[in-house]
Amino acid sequence: MSLPPRLIEGYESFRTGRLPAEQSRYRELAEHGQSPEIMVIGCCDSRVSPEVIFDARPGELFVVRNVANLVPPYSPDGEYHGVSAALEFAVGALRVKHIVVLGHAHCGGVRAFAEDHAPLSPGDFIGKWMSLIAPAAEKLGPRGDMSPSDYLVRLEQASIANTLDNLSTFPRLRHLIERGHVILHGAYFGVATGELSMLDPQSGRFVPAVARLPA
Ligand SMILES: [Zn+2]
Repeated sequence: MSLPPRLIEGYESFRTGRLPAEQSRYRELAEHGQSPEIMVIGCCDSRVSPEVIFDARPGELFVVRNVANLVPPYSPDGEYHGVSAALEFAVGALRVKHIVVLGHAHCGGVRAFAEDHAPLSPGDFIGKWMSLIAPAAEKLGPRGDMSPSDYLVRLEQASIANTLDNLSTFPRLRHLIERGHVILHGAYFGVATGELSMLDPQSGRFVPAVARLPA
């Protein structure tokens, strides 16, 4: 059974294009190991690839992706915790200096939480996972007369802030943040526009990460 043709084509393109250009970098990374300074926590959504958005080279970003870019609070309960394990490795072994929570517009996971009458999928896991958004929704308050699309943007962004709060519940990470060794960032990608905004900790608002391109 061969791989899907799209993957074979893509790999051929990588093998003849990017690989020769970066061969020495790959060899060096293989020999000396990776030492990325930036961890990105992003959504599984196929439109929001951190390596594409940040034009990253191999070895630059340590990425963990899950539905709706969430991090559960610190909970050493003997269960399986994929995100916490990745975080532990990034902070304890790689000693990353920055952790970026990258949310995005039109997030199906956030919408599933907001419109709980229309679950993202039937099954055993999504509902429980999406309940991690509940504290963000509570802080945001009732929808009021906000349009559904405005509310979803607000909830997507509030959830990023809540995920940053959850990161601070990990004792070792909190210690490093307090000492200035690790900096947390919230970022939000507009899928249609391609615009990236970042959470301004002072105002709590998302502001353009770079000056807008001229129209
Ligand atoms: Zn998403």
